[in-house]
Amino acid sequence: MKTIVPDYYEAFRCIAGDCRHSCCIGWEIDIDEESYKKYQAVPGEFGARLLAHIQEEDGVAHFVLDEKERCPFLNEKGLCDIYTALGEDALCGICTDHPRFRNFFEDRTEIGLGLCCEAAAELILNKEEKTKLVVLKDTGEEETDEDDAACLIARDEIFAVLQDRTLSLEDRLRRLQREYEITFPFSGTSAWADAFFELEYMDNSFTEMLLSLKKENMDFFAPIQRDEIAFEQLAVYFIFRHFKDFWDEGTEGFAVGLMIISLRMIHALYRNEGKALLDIARLYSAEIEYSEENTEALTEYIELG
Ligand code: SF4
Repeated sequence: MKTIVPDYYEAFRCIAGDCRHSCCIGWEIDIDEESYKKYQAVPGEFGARLLAHIQEEDGVAHFVLDEKERCPFLNEKGLCDIYTALGEDALCGICTDHPRFRNFFEDRTEIGLGLCCEAAAELILNKEEKTKLVVLKDTGEEETDEDDAACLIARDEIFAVLQDRTLSLEDRLRRLQREYEITFPFSGTSAWADAFFELEYMDNSFTEMLLSLKKENMDFFAPIQRDEIAFEQLAVYFIFRHFKDFWDEGTEGFAVGLMIISLRMIHALYRNEGKALLDIARLYSAEIEYSEENTEALTEYIELG
């Protein structure tokens, strides 16, 4: 079984107290059974504090966020009190694993870093060279499933188009859109902002940006010329992360369509807001890409030929 990762994966380090958008704010973290048992056995004052801030719902325990939507163990320095008091091994599964995501194949597991984490976003967006997938671990031969092999070939072909730097990024995106016979129902940012308003949000700053986009009503499909390489990395990231799931559903064209909508929306906000690309892409990921409901809702705006 192989473990495959993007070539920036091993450079990842959580920046903890320096993180401006800690993953310990806004997300209600479920606690795996093993960690919950450990927490229940912690003695003394810290043990009592742990249990006072955990609630069980439908048999699943989670940390109860405070009134500012912060994890109750995230201290004022942006550090985790569980980590400080009990050590790294005491972190629950989700806290240890974030921002990693996985794609499962018969002969390989792929692990990526989610764009919603600012340290991961920095690695992804600041990379100049074309992103490659590399083998992190190989525990021996495993049979390749025929369908998986077809998925990987189709995905590699998309990567090859996205990373063909002899063409402008615009030409690469248009080529993929043609090949997958994708059409979209609107062309102005106003209509797209309305579509995005229908989604679910945790942070008002995204909807505020949508309001301004709605007023401007620019061309949603305006050519991406500034920071072309960063947008290429984003496109590769979206395909790496989502292609396999859509392939399994037999709707891989949606993965390409979703990548195009995501790039266009990030580009429109980038042009309109004058903010750093990293901040916009990270927020887009946290609000849209990390929500299955939202990505699924966006597929309604992708017409496949
Ligand atoms: S978002 Fe990323 S960098 Fe920030 S605290 Fe979480 S894992 Fe660390």
